[in-house]
Amino acid sequence: MILGNDPILLTPGPLTTSLQTKQAMLRDWGSWDAAFNRITASLCRDLVDIVRGGDDYVCVPLQGSGTFSVEAAIGNVVPRTGKVLVPNNGAYCARILKICNYLGRSAVELPVPEDQPATAAMVEAALARDPAITHVAQVHCETGAGLLNDLAGIAQVCARRKVGLIVDAMSSFAALPIDVQGVPFDALIAASGKCLEGVPGMGFVILRKTVLEACAGNSHSLALDLHDQYAYMQKTTQWRYTPPTHVVAALRAAVDQFIEEGGQPARLARYSDNCRTLVEGMRALGFRTYLKPEVQAPIIVTFHAPADAAYDFKAFYAAVRARGYILYPGKLTQVETFRVGCIGAIDGNEMRNVVSAVAAALADLGIRQVAPAVDRKAA
Ligand SMILES: *Cc1c(COP(=O)(O)O)cnc(C)c1O
Repeated sequence: MILGNDPILLTPGPLTTSLQTKQAMLRDWGSWDAAFNRITASLCRDLVDIVRGGDDYVCVPLQGSGTFSVEAAIGNVVPRTGKVLVPNNGAYCARILKICNYLGRSAVELPVPEDQPATAAMVEAALARDPAITHVAQVHCETGAGLLNDLAGIAQVCARRKVGLIVDAMSSFAALPIDVQGVPFDALIAASGKCLEGVPGMGFVILRKTVLEACAGNSHSLALDLHDQYAYMQKTTQWRYTPPTHVVAALRAAVDQFIEEGGQPARLARYSDNCRTLVEGMRALGFRTYLKPEVQAPIIVTFHAPADAAYDFKAFYAAVRARGYILYPGKLTQVETFRVGCIGAIDGNEMRNVVSAVAAALADLGIRQVAPAVDRKAA
């Protein structure tokens, strides 16, 4: 991969993009221009194809970071009289609860430990307890810890009980398999700057067409009105309000590379290899992963911080950064951790190199006790 000399981002968005994707931004586009609007239309078709949505699903792109699209999906799809069940095992699930709160959509939290997946049985039991629930909002890969939830099982429960399903697939879309046959959903949210390897700046919601049609007039917000954005785009081919033109052009280039690479299975294979290479290398240095391998998604890995008193995340980050790799802080409430992303235009070479950079940083900082304190307690 041709990456240039910039530091490699091992963060789950923004992430490292290819030179080709960056080069696609070296041109200005007019928002009225037919060639630009054809790019938007072709992207929407390709994004629906990734989940094999056929003619039953449509894609509505939206300006902003991923959270803007999550907020749009909740505010459009859940009626004001609806009630949302949110299985909560991390920061992004908690964010959905917060959104429901802001928008005045009634929500029920289903608490799940941060290192355990949400399962079909848990959701089934919660739905049985409260028949007023109209929708389940499920995060697929909880990026907070890097945990994989049982989306397919939960989707089957929702379909059987005729409850709507809204999926935050932000960090899994295009890498982990999602097919509307096995995972029937009402709405699914993802964004340009994650596993599609575009630059950040636009999200999108893939909706069942009949669900979107029923959304007319539901939105709490003008700027986030998905139905209006879709209707306007159908009528004029244009975005409502200024489109993130360079982001769209970069995403077109990124999706072309995604298709050329072999689509979702190829992306999953590369990320899985990245994840395996990283975890093996870090284990050899003494690090321990926070999650058990069975629930670890190959997207981002949470490592326990070293027990050594000389460890300080900021200094560690700076020492690894000086060697060209950007790590990510932990996002857990109980234990001290840091995270390393496996996604982006990177491969096994970058993962081997970051392990070397970490080894050198440990030596620099005089960190000898790499295993976490929890290991010593258990011993
Ligand atoms: C990245 C991400 C989001 C959106 O975050 P933004 O900072 O708004 O782009 C939402 N959910 C999950 C699971 C994510 O990984």
